[in-house]
Amino acid sequence: MSRRPIVVAIDGPAGVGKSTVARLVAARLGLPYLDTGAMYRALALWALERGFDPAAAETARRAAEAAAQLGLRLGADGHAEILLAGEPVEPRIRAAEVAVATSRLAVHPQVRAAMVRLQRALALAHGGVIEGRDIGTKVVPETPHKFFFDADPAVRAERRWAELRAAGVEGLSREQLAEQLAERDARDRGRPDSPLAAAADALHVDTGGATPEELAERIVAAVRARAPV
Ligand code: C5P
Repeated sequence: MSRRPIVVAIDGPAGVGKSTVARLVAARLGLPYLDTGAMYRALALWALERGFDPAAAETARRAAEAAAQLGLRLGADGHAEILLAGEPVEPRIRAAEVAVATSRLAVHPQVRAAMVRLQRALALAHGGVIEGRDIGTKVVPETPHKFFFDADPAVRAERRWAELRAAGVEGLSREQLAEQLAERDARDRGRPDSPLAAAADALHVDTGGATPEELAERIVAAVRARAPV
């Protein structure tokens, strides 16, 4: 009898530490790691490079079509690298203007439907630790392994600031970054189609006072308590 691959859904707002913890959890469980935000960012980059307004309905239609150009390359470390027309999109998708454009583009149901289709196919085929905003509510709602990360907005802004500095991304002050995160979260939480929200059965995790290793340990233990991994 074949077992369904394990899917761990990690949702939460920006700067909450999802990526770092998701990578650690994926490595410990031997599962692929997928950053769905990077997929939305890749489409926003595609739109910006063509001078399209991410808020426009016409852009949404075109971007949903361009989703066919998205590819994934599973590295030896299990990280699913995002490709657009065969080219890696990192680190270009980390620019501050891409983050804002992404949350504008991500409100469109057409774009979301295309993304959810791709993400769900990957999850069902290979399993994985999948992070985003709607993984537990929309992409793989049937998984019992759902986590919702949250932390104080000041803590999240500080963490994102440090991440961007470490990645060499400049051009925003701390205050501007905090404002941008707040604006992005409000849009993500407020959109009618699959807003950022915790699934009813998600385990809530406050990431404020713990290290990524401690958080990963907690997630791995919770997953193992439910599944023989
Ligand atoms: O996680 P990250 O900050 O890279 O996500 C960028 C943006 O992509 C989010 O602000 C959100 O608008 C969008 N997103 C989404 N659904 C997901 C992942 C990301 O709408 N599953």
